[in-house]
Amino acid sequence: RQNERESLLIALNFAKTYFQELMQQTDEGKSIGLSYFRERGFTNPTIDAFELGYSLDQWDGLLQAAIKRGYNPDMLEKAGLILRKEADGGGKTKTFDRFRGRVMFPIHNVSGRVIAFGARILKTDKNQPKYLNSPETTVYHKSQVLYGIYQAKQAIRQEDVCFLTEGYTDVISLHQAGIKNVVASSGTSLTTEQIRLVARFTPNITILYDGDAAGIKAALRGLDMVLEEGLNLRLLLLPDGEDPDSYVHKVGAEAFKAYIKQHSQDFIDFKASRWLTEAGDDPLKRAEGISDVCASITRIPDLLKRQTLSQRVAQVFHVSEQSVISEINRLLRKQQ
Ligand code: ATP
Ligand code: MN
Ligand code: MN
Ligand code: MN
Repeated sequence: RQNERESLLIALNFAKTYFQELMQQTDEGKSIGLSYFRERGFTNPTIDAFELGYSLDQWDGLLQAAIKRGYNPDMLEKAGLILRKEADGGGKTKTFDRFRGRVMFPIHNVSGRVIAFGARILKTDKNQPKYLNSPETTVYHKSQVLYGIYQAKQAIRQEDVCFLTEGYTDVISLHQAGIKNVVASSGTSLTTEQIRLVARFTPNITILYDGDAAGIKAALRGLDMVLEEGLNLRLLLLPDGEDPDSYVHKVGAEAFKAYIKQHSQDFIDFKASRWLTEAGDDPLKRAEGISDVCASITRIPDLLKRQTLSQRVAQVFHVSEQSVISEINRLLRKQQ
């Protein structure tokens, strides 16, 4: 088992280097892959730091190169790098590269080894997913991984906060702008394992999700999970239609940092402001809002924190602290 793990990691590292060399040294790689990253504003040091690459638009470029170097196709398949499919009519199987004609984002574990890839198409094509990711393998359990954690961990410790974004390019663009304490859950909804990974470096998480419906939904879902793990949480949605990548390119690093400072909210303000806008003078809607915020408070393991936060809820909704505490206790009893 240990041996297989190591074999997969070696194969994945080979693939990473192969994709890097294709992008830096071949005409197709330079004119398509490298120029794509250039257009997105990525500099050479950034491309190197994230070990970005390009996969040729061919059926089995990686497979052939790997076989030539003595790699076993079974291992390549177990690493998620190649696919085997029965050809039509049965009988023969076709073996081919999983990633073709895409820019490649290696996914590193905490110690910097490549365990998987994310791969983006260059042009929008409704028949193809924008991003293609490695499947689950012996070395890649996507629910346990945060994109960028290797590049970010030192900065997360130093800044004592981790910015959590949705996508690969959000991590990379913020990193290039000097905001290095940033990771992404990359297409999965946030998991408890991912939160515990952050908790190894800091107790403070700030969620920076896209300012669209999907981002709001994901933020609300992630919120309770972060609280449950006992971490401190702030949230910020980018302006509608923007994500951290597009916004930092638009306004620059300093304005981006200022925006976070000004507009990030703790979970009570984040939830309450949405409820209060929706409820207006409707008392029933306000009560529903109070109950919703209280439900999040019941997730917090620390009793003392819960009590302090009850006071805040009372202030924000202009109700008595006692009514907030009763609601929290009612919800706690219901959960038992
Ligand atoms: P880009 O800026 O390159 O268009 P993005 O990161 O802004 O990409 P989003 O659509 O905001 O892309 O999605 C956020 C993240 O979700 C992506 O970075 C990727 O990890 C994941 N993702 C998006 N689309 C897909 C898909 N079709 N299949 C799998 N994962 C996806
Ligand atoms: Mn989005
Ligand atoms: Mn984007
Ligand atoms: Mn996005």
